[in-house]
Amino acid sequence: MSGWKTSYKVSDLSDKQQLELICRQCNRLAYTNKSMLCEKIDRSHLYLDEIEKRARCKARGCGGLMRLSMVRLDELSGFVGGMA
Ligand SMILES: [Zn+2]
Repeated sequence: MSGWKTSYKVSDLSDKQQLELICRQCNRLAYTNKSMLCEKIDRSHLYLDEIEKRARCKARGCGGLMRLSMVRLDELSGFVGGMA
């Protein structure tokens, strides 16, 4: 079901592919992508399930685990307006 997370590495993502992270505790939604994931630390060798396991909600006092999902490219234009 979540097999794509263990079969895709960050380096396999296209530059335009957006990933969605939703907090399992407070439902805070965040977006990330390859360049953001590799900005401070090079995470290109990590599988996406490892990214998911390491992601923590940045909401104050939450720090909950995040659920990672792939934003389909054909939906991307609809999301751009909502991005910070
Ligand atoms: Zn949260």
